[in-house]
Amino acid sequence: MAADIDCVVLGAGVVGLAVARELALAGREVMVIEANEAIGTGTSSRNSEVIHAGIYYEPGSLKAQLCVAGKHLLYSYCDERGVPYKRIGKLIVAATPEQSAQLHRIAEHAGRNGVDDLYQISGVQARKLEPALTCDAALVSPSTGIIDSHALMLALQGDAEHQGTQCVFHTAFRQGKVLDSGEFELEFDGDEPMTLTADCVINATGLHAPSVARKLLGQPTELIPQAYFCKGSYFTLSGRSPFSRLIYPMPNNAGLGVHLTLDLGGQAKFGPDTEWIDGEDYTLDPKRAEAFYAAVRSYWPALPDSALNPGYTGIRPKIVGPGEAAADFAIAGPATHGIPNLVNLFGLESPALTASLAIAQTVRAALNEAPHHR
Ligand SMILES: Cc1cc2nc3c(=O)[nH]c(=O)nc-3n(C[C@H](O)[C@H](O)[C@H](O)COP(=O)(O)OP(=O)(O)OC[C@H]3O[C@@H](n4cnc5c(N)ncnc54)[C@H](O)[C@@H]3O)c2cc1C
Repeated sequence: MAADIDCVVLGAGVVGLAVARELALAGREVMVIEANEAIGTGTSSRNSEVIHAGIYYEPGSLKAQLCVAGKHLLYSYCDERGVPYKRIGKLIVAATPEQSAQLHRIAEHAGRNGVDDLYQISGVQARKLEPALTCDAALVSPSTGIIDSHALMLALQGDAEHQGTQCVFHTAFRQGKVLDSGEFELEFDGDEPMTLTADCVINATGLHAPSVARKLLGQPTELIPQAYFCKGSYFTLSGRSPFSRLIYPMPNNAGLGVHLTLDLGGQAKFGPDTEWIDGEDYTLDPKRAEAFYAAVRSYWPALPDSALNPGYTGIRPKIVGPGEAAADFAIAGPATHGIPNLVNLFGLESPALTASLAIAQTVRAALNEAPHHR
């Protein structure tokens, strides 16, 4: 008997929607099933909305490859579909001569990822571009931009629906199994609890992807990573932004540092910081602002007292814990777990918004992989 649906995509974040569009354009019948009431209520609407250039990732990693490929795809897609964005560029600022001496290493590293347009400027030149900035030198990344992520998701949803994709909301995957026939039987809670069969499943449930995978029985559980949640808080700036580009301090072991990003309306915000947490808790502790003042004043000494207001938080869907080396994206298809027609998407933290269209292409290719034999 034929399955009820060809492809089920679990999760309507930017990745699930990009995957649905990609599969629908390839002629597949697709249903996107989302636990919440609308698209993009998870990490996809709680991020910096930066189109990353692809500077820091490990050369050859999926993060590096898919960020750089995804950036080009995304700029073209925004032009084609009228998704608002601005290629405003970013400055990576060195506070001291010692830090300045490290800038060329960042540029070399980026070059190995195919990002070969970075160039170094002096502190004086940096202040000509951004008069409020204090720094010894800076690296300019011209291909970094900002995007209206909700408009992007609406465009992806529109394309998918135009090809016949159905998006179902208020419907959460509860459990399922791989049947002997190779089809998947999936059970859902929600407004209208249902069970359906599918030929193919894409698990794009973000923070919950590891727990969803564990509830889809029949796949090897030892290959499903543990989920770790790492919250990032943002504080917004009262008044006009003194900067017109994104400003990032030098990266350190803990991450990219408290940086300044702008949204398309010109609102400046600082963040995200890092805080390991146990559950999906988006509350923002206003006391965290204290650490932001010191960090921001290292490159903007004129930041006025009381200028930072609590903004919002987002949670990074990590698959390694505190103190461990950063993990790559894990796009786990048949070649990884041996189950045909199943792709689990684990650890899709930043830059997965930038990379979403390239991730979608990789998922489509992964569905055609030969399963490894268990
Ligand atoms: C603080 C922060 C800043 C970031 N900044 C950037 C940036 O500037 N640039 C960039 O490129 N990337 C950035 N990222 C990364 C980017 O936001 C994410 O990688 C991306 O949004 C992930 O999209 P997703 O679709 O995988 O997950 P999500 O957007 O989380 O979507 C998953 C969906 O699955 C649904 N779901 C969960 N469980 C179930 C279930 N059982 N049944 C059905 N549906 C379910 C959820 O409700 C959710 O809608 C940032 C991330 C964070 C946390």
